[in-house]
Amino acid sequence: MNYSPLYLRKNSERTVRNGHPWIFSGAVERRPKDADTGDIVDVFDSHERFVCRGFYNKRSLIRVRSLTQDANQPIDIAFFTERITQAVQLRRDTDLSAHTNAMRLVHGESDGLPGLIVDDYAGYLVIQIHTAGMEQQRQTILKALDAILTPKSIYERSDVGTRRAEGLNDRPTGLLAGAEPPEFIEIEECGVRLHADLYRGQKTGFFLDQRDNRFLLQRLAAGQSVLNLFSYSSGFSAHALKGGAAHTLDVDISPQVFPSARRNIEANRPATAHSNLLVADVFPFVDELADRGPRYDIVVCDPPSLLRKHNQLKQAMGVYTKLNRNAFRLVKDGGLLITASCSSRVSQDDFFQIVRRAATGARVRTRILTYNLHPADHPVDPAFPDGRYLKCVFARVLR
Ligand code: SAH
Repeated sequence: MNYSPLYLRKNSERTVRNGHPWIFSGAVERRPKDADTGDIVDVFDSHERFVCRGFYNKRSLIRVRSLTQDANQPIDIAFFTERITQAVQLRRDTDLSAHTNAMRLVHGESDGLPGLIVDDYAGYLVIQIHTAGMEQQRQTILKALDAILTPKSIYERSDVGTRRAEGLNDRPTGLLAGAEPPEFIEIEECGVRLHADLYRGQKTGFFLDQRDNRFLLQRLAAGQSVLNLFSYSSGFSAHALKGGAAHTLDVDISPQVFPSARRNIEANRPATAHSNLLVADVFPFVDELADRGPRYDIVVCDPPSLLRKHNQLKQAMGVYTKLNRNAFRLVKDGGLLITASCSSRVSQDDFFQIVRRAATGARVRTRILTYNLHPADHPVDPAFPDGRYLKCVFARVLR
């Protein structure tokens, strides 16, 4: 257990000691002589006291991602096995498995595993590797996952742009272990039959993080008309239909989402309900619809992150506000807007402001019924605020 030393500038160790896993390049006094990107280093403060052990990356602004503050903890298969086991146990200690057989088992930094995502779809695992450090641990991770979970297969979807910032220029995808998974994996989510599309779907093939909000919609949807904006594989509409919605319209810009969307709709649609899917850019679509209608009982608005860089926050808030103003205008009096933001840079308070300004702009009076954050399989480490991203508001438009 001999890792290269890296020394921090004076007074640069506090946030890491408080549990934040990232050390930025500006905090580093001396780079380690013999460590390469992806290697494990030992970090010391300016008094040469041990701070943490973590993944080093000389190319990324995030120079070190801390794995442990225990100087006696080697980073080996036992370490990764323990971390993954702990993450899995965290989910097993909830009631999630009573409601679903699809959940996120490892959520990167928030589970103490920087750059690793593991989703479980009915026993088929999908992994994403985001960081150079985790990339070096690939074989160890696969071994650990196999031993802990004995999955039907392990499929990789590391086709993420963030790998570039880590100096990883490839975007690997494909089968890593076990038998080829089916084209659409059937999963169950709160009584709804859904499908994950591992091969062509976005991210890991399904958006698990909106489960609780979809289920709440299910319980509010009887007899309602639902407009589902940024619909992806129509999870919200599938829940609404299961809950007895009379009509759903899904809008997404990407035609690739429709094979799974259609499946999800048809698996849950009562014979009397009507459902339509539309390929369109939501922004001009709602702009136009806001003026001439029609109006819906329930509007769902779940855009991708509209913000990549910190300095764009103000601009992004303007875009969110305009989008939500139009969405509010599409809700009937007495109806419901379910609106979300998945940008970690937009804080809970920011999102509150967005909803308030949007309602004022749309000239509606509204009451927020529910303000949901992360579901239990997307846990949050309070020392790592960057890991908080999801916010979802259920806002009733008053009559
Ligand atoms: N609500 C979904 C997840 C939405 S993910 C669920 O519960 O599963 C965001 C979706 O927005 C993606 O499917 C993406 O294709 C779509 N999207 C991105 N930009 C868009 C745009 N300008 N107009 C319409 N859809 C867009």
